[in-house]
Amino acid sequence: MLNYRKDLEKMPSYDGVEKNYRIKVNANESTMNLPPLVAERVQNRLSYVAFNRYPNEEYYSLVEQIAKNFSVEQEQILLGGGSSEIIEKIFHAFGGVGKKIVYPQPSFSMYKIYAKAAEAEGISFDLDEKFDLNVEKFIKKVRETQANLAVVCNPNNPTGNVLTLEQVEEIAKSVDCAFLLDEAYIEFYGKTAVGLVKKYPNLIVARTFSKAYGLAGARVGYMIANSEVAKMIGKTFMPYHLNSLSLATADIVYQMRDEFIPRIQMIISERKRIFERLKKFPKLEVFPSQTNFILIRHERADELNKFLESLDIGVRFFSPTAPGLKNCLRISFGTRPENDEVFDAIKNWLEK
Ligand SMILES: *Cc1c(COP(=O)(O)O)cnc(C)c1O
Repeated sequence: MLNYRKDLEKMPSYDGVEKNYRIKVNANESTMNLPPLVAERVQNRLSYVAFNRYPNEEYYSLVEQIAKNFSVEQEQILLGGGSSEIIEKIFHAFGGVGKKIVYPQPSFSMYKIYAKAAEAEGISFDLDEKFDLNVEKFIKKVRETQANLAVVCNPNNPTGNVLTLEQVEEIAKSVDCAFLLDEAYIEFYGKTAVGLVKKYPNLIVARTFSKAYGLAGARVGYMIANSEVAKMIGKTFMPYHLNSLSLATADIVYQMRDEFIPRIQMIISERKRIFERLKKFPKLEVFPSQTNFILIRHERADELNKFLESLDIGVRFFSPTAPGLKNCLRISFGTRPENDEVFDAIKNWLEK
């Protein structure tokens, strides 16, 4: 007889079975591997990794670079296995039986699962019909529920929309608890709240190398917070939880982050171009995005999804039970030819 931990049976599994589509635009990854110049430097760096040593040097080398870039102390930074691990640990640090964690909906689907894993009570706050977050009501909800942690994803996944820095500050200022801001897509928006950490010690900003820096396979993310807060959250991590290969890779990528600027700019201009073209179809709802993806809605989205699949194009289709996302598809931007092909396929289907 195997007795699992209470409620483990009820935990949803992450449906991460990924098909290898010809055009894979379902997971907000970069469709391009590292720029050749960066790849070369990474390979060279990996050739002298000290496999026999625990990854101290690699860890602190990256921390030092990030601290310098944001003009913060190294003690304010923690690295994690993707920002997923960071977010999970923050939920752990502020969760526990009887604690409440408030997050918007629809947003990153993992918040609900991390809340469960931390044995906390996850409380979702509905976005309005345009997927905007009513800041005043959100603050009220956090205060009324006496939440221990408030979470906002900015720009938001999967809706693509944003809060202004003023709105983020309003939340940081007004909630009486920890406030996690998930900036997984911030490079495509540009308005980071890291500068507010100094003024609001309850603010924790999580970032990742997985999206704009095309490093999803290496699993590296980081957070910036008040140093006392970082010290406490740091206690929830295992020693040496990141491996030296990933750390050394992220270290080079961060050193060479300017090499990614043209790509980020390309994605932003592609986003504008495709948004304008998709907007012209009356039956298709298109939501403005500040990310590397776009959310669309159509009353026969499941058919459109199947049609795209038949062309070996993989987009993200949301299950009809995903709150607020009925008939929605999320499509990441790739190279210009990839985006054109996806657009043409949608157009052909709509005009059929
Ligand atoms: C992709 C994503 C993450 C984390 O990705 P990692 O690969 O774990 O860094 C976190 N939050 C949101 C909203 C995301 O979309």
